[in-house]
Amino acid sequence: MSKKENNPVRNGAGQGEELMNKIVSLCKRRGFIFPGSEIYGGMANSFDYGPLGVELKNNIKQAWWKRFVQDRNDMVGLDAALIMNTKTWEASGHLDNFTDPLVECEKCKMRFREDLIDSKECPECKGKLSQPKQFNLMFKTFVGPSEESADIAYFRPETAQGIFVNFKNVIDTMRPKLPFGIGQIGKAFRNEITPGNFVFRTREFEQMEIEYFIEPPKTDKDWNGHFENWRKDMIEWMEFLGIDVEKEIFELEVPKDELAHYSKRTIDFEYKFPFGQKELYGLAYRFDYDLTQHSKHSGEDLVYTDADGNKITPHVIEPSLGVERTVLAVLCSAYVEDKVGDDERVVLKFPHWLAPVKIAVFPLLKNKPQLVDKAKEIFTDLNKNYTCMFDDNGNVGKRYRRQDEIGTPYCITVDFDSLEKGDVTVRDRDTMKQERVAIKELNKYFENKFK
Ligand code: ATP
Repeated sequence: MSKKENNPVRNGAGQGEELMNKIVSLCKRRGFIFPGSEIYGGMANSFDYGPLGVELKNNIKQAWWKRFVQDRNDMVGLDAALIMNTKTWEASGHLDNFTDPLVECEKCKMRFREDLIDSKECPECKGKLSQPKQFNLMFKTFVGPSEESADIAYFRPETAQGIFVNFKNVIDTMRPKLPFGIGQIGKAFRNEITPGNFVFRTREFEQMEIEYFIEPPKTDKDWNGHFENWRKDMIEWMEFLGIDVEKEIFELEVPKDELAHYSKRTIDFEYKFPFGQKELYGLAYRFDYDLTQHSKHSGEDLVYTDADGNKITPHVIEPSLGVERTVLAVLCSAYVEDKVGDDERVVLKFPHWLAPVKIAVFPLLKNKPQLVDKAKEIFTDLNKNYTCMFDDNGNVGKRYRRQDEIGTPYCITVDFDSLEKGDVTVRDRDTMKQERVAIKELNKYFENKFK
């Protein structure tokens, strides 16, 4: 929570803004992301994920879960409640410390996060700003039918605490050996002072978090080894997403005096968004802060018994990833404008696994029932294994453009030769090359392409 949010990097300020506008408009037009509650005039900085957006988001979450939870033998998963006992937030320090410095313009009354603005005057009207007040970011609610202060509860501002309060349950039921981690995907809520930049900063978002428990380190080298392993794993994940890590990611070692109240070391992985270089993910060493605090406040011993019967409080490394910031980064990284002859095409060059639609199937002409029937038959067959889309609107060239714009890796066209010879045209999104493939070979062909 330390950086200025007005330092456009990619292509300079003007182009950055233009690019961002194009991505936002594509998201709306093609069913990725809609403004929230739109028919009622919207709801500031809330967004809904449309038919393609939900596929993209699910592809990200499923791949993360498989890679970091299911495919590793040192990880287990969890899905904790969103509203937790308020004592959780006393213990974790969020009630006292989860604040941002709020300043208000004395002239136009706009409010800003002091650490995210450059100057001492109002960025909107140049008016004088008030002294900063600490503003708690947790969303308050009431549990039960009366609105008494005793019934106040908070929506979780991070998924992490759900993991710490279940530490004992996981140890008792799964008997994991150190080092091991617990992963969780779920919603978090923060009453951000200045949300913005599309889905980059919203008040409701999803996190994919891991608390990785290690033996209490004897030297800095002991925890740093684990920290470095997670650093590499996170970089590999970003490469897997199609992000050009060399060019688009900047690792920021958070200075000691800016560390969160629970952290001894934090790296922010910053991504070069069109509106500036900003935090995509964080990696923090939380030492034994959380387990110690919850042991103290709950009276439960949140400890691990080692092979010699010693009770120890493990330390924690925490890779923390935002789902929506991932969606935005992959959209920005994949977005390409290509020249095709005199024409231009917009393509989302997603890695295959990320693409919301894998294969589109077209009949060459929509008024020829034999072609439509054959195309539907192929669609039904392939759709058992891949998310497919059937499209018979407009000419084939336009259909290709529409599929390019949503990142569909392959398009199939059924024509009159298909009826006679039993083959179809398969067109590749990136090379735009077309080849004839026998209909009965299509499953094998795509198995190869998508492996
Ligand atoms: P920032 O400095 O941008 O406020 P943070 O340091 O408070 O972020 P963390 O508490 O480390 O963020 O949260 C972990 C991850 O959750 C972030 O790296 C980001 O991907 C995501 N995240 C945090 N706040 C938001 C938000 N308001 N909207 C969307 N994603 C968020």
